[in-house]
Amino acid sequence: MPERRIPVAAEADVVVVGAGPGGFAAALQAARMDCSVVLIEKYDMPGGVHTSGLQGSAGPGVGGIHTELMQRFADAGYIYTFSEKTHPGWAGNPLSHYERLMKPGTEFTRQSFNPDGAGSLMARMLDEAGVTCFYGASFLDAIVKTAPKNQTGNQGRIDAVIIETASGKQAVKGKVFVDGTGTAELVARSGAPFVRGGGGQPTGAKWDGVNRPIPGGLLWIMDGIDFQRLRKHQQDAKDPVLAKVIAEATAAKDIPPGLYRPRMAGENVYGGLYIGHPTIDMSPMLRDGTYILWQNVPYEWALHMDDSAEDASKAKRELRGFIDAEAGFLRKYVPGFENATIQHVGRYLGIRDGRHPVGEYVFSLKDAQKQTHFADAVTQPMTKTFFWDGYAKHTFEVPYRSFLPKKIDNLLLTGASMSFTYEVIFMVMRNFPWCTQTGEIAGTAAARAVKQGIPPKRLEWTQPYF
Ligand SMILES: Cc1cc2nc3c(=O)[nH]c(=O)nc-3n(C[C@H](O)[C@H](O)[C@H](O)COP(=O)(O)OP(=O)(O)OC[C@H]3O[C@@H](n4cnc5c(N)ncnc54)[C@H](O)[C@@H]3O)c2cc1C
Repeated sequence: MPERRIPVAAEADVVVVGAGPGGFAAALQAARMDCSVVLIEKYDMPGGVHTSGLQGSAGPGVGGIHTELMQRFADAGYIYTFSEKTHPGWAGNPLSHYERLMKPGTEFTRQSFNPDGAGSLMARMLDEAGVTCFYGASFLDAIVKTAPKNQTGNQGRIDAVIIETASGKQAVKGKVFVDGTGTAELVARSGAPFVRGGGGQPTGAKWDGVNRPIPGGLLWIMDGIDFQRLRKHQQDAKDPVLAKVIAEATAAKDIPPGLYRPRMAGENVYGGLYIGHPTIDMSPMLRDGTYILWQNVPYEWALHMDDSAEDASKAKRELRGFIDAEAGFLRKYVPGFENATIQHVGRYLGIRDGRHPVGEYVFSLKDAQKQTHFADAVTQPMTKTFFWDGYAKHTFEVPYRSFLPKKIDNLLLTGASMSFTYEVIFMVMRNFPWCTQTGEIAGTAAARAVKQGIPPKRLEWTQPYF
């Protein structure tokens, strides 16, 4: 066989793989700090789970690029706001994804952004900053060489990544790389260490000892829903979780086994959380009468969608089937859904518990509980509620070393691919605002390293960024 050479499609100071909130903000920030930047994204727009995956949850800006994004989404008319006034009976409704634990009648305000509009706007922001974006481009592999001894010792250094595009296999060379894949795929392909998803359950919950990843989910949107009619049925038929209509459809063999179970069924998989049991779970989205619905992978299936082709394919196939069956059931059996239609199914089946890189520092729940102080803190002490230990509030710092995977000296972590233990990442540190912040920090670190002519691992981080 003659040797085949892979053409170099581009070369840049900073190469970012994956354009979720983390990769997007990293690329934007590095470009704004005058680096040449290439961004590689599998789908047709940035935003990851929040755009291609339809998540779209919005909220007040937390500073930096996140605040800018929220403002630009609002200016473009892409933010939808709903409240107990617009949706009477939503607070405390057991079908509500976010508001179900509230006391009925509680006043609240929630916002979401239009995923497709937001994705296009984010793409425009990258263009404005001069980022070269390869969309429809799959990252396949990393070419790793040994780093010069005088720089970081026995570390490897990524020279290029191999991608697959409409032009075939191509290479992209760079000085600094950022893993924005959400599942630490670049970490894995470059030989840096990671822990596989599926670490277990929160302390205190019943657990049979089998390691199953926290299930991922496929989100979809239905429009034409009459919530007040649905609510009337819940009240009049005394059927708050729709158990009666589910039983009726099950008896008529109109829904496949396992499609629904009563919410959490008393066998809570993740404490009081919603994940793990397919159930009717929805939230207003885009405009009145339109709702996003969650279709989570059943917990028992124990799918590793990030590293098993079979599991990834099974999840996509089965969840699409569930959505089809759920839409049919809702329209036929549930008052308020008679005229509802499927409007959109996410392109992206989100993974909540993929690979967790082992970095120069692995941030754990203990660090939050003990308020560990870090000389290389990237943020001022921030306060967040950790769900893992019983909804407890902690004030904590995060070190720059959690952005640095072991073994590779020119790779930075961001978003859901940080060097955190899985309970930290799942329960607290993977939401849209924080992932955008970590991207901005990674982009800043990349640009500083390029300017100083050193790998990110040698960069000294002495001042919090946020
Ligand atoms: C089902 C679900 C529901 C969630 N609900 C909420 C919520 O309500 N609120 C909230 O704030 N957060 C929520 N999250 C969490 C949040 O969406 C994620 O943690 C966050 O999007 C992670 O950001 P990221 O940038 O690390 O990666 P992602 O958003 O996962 O983006 C990764 C990007 O990398 C690309 N990519 C991956 N592999 C490759 C490859 N090989 N080649 C090219 N491109 C690649 C993907 O296409 C994607 O665009 C949810 C997550 C899931 C899965």
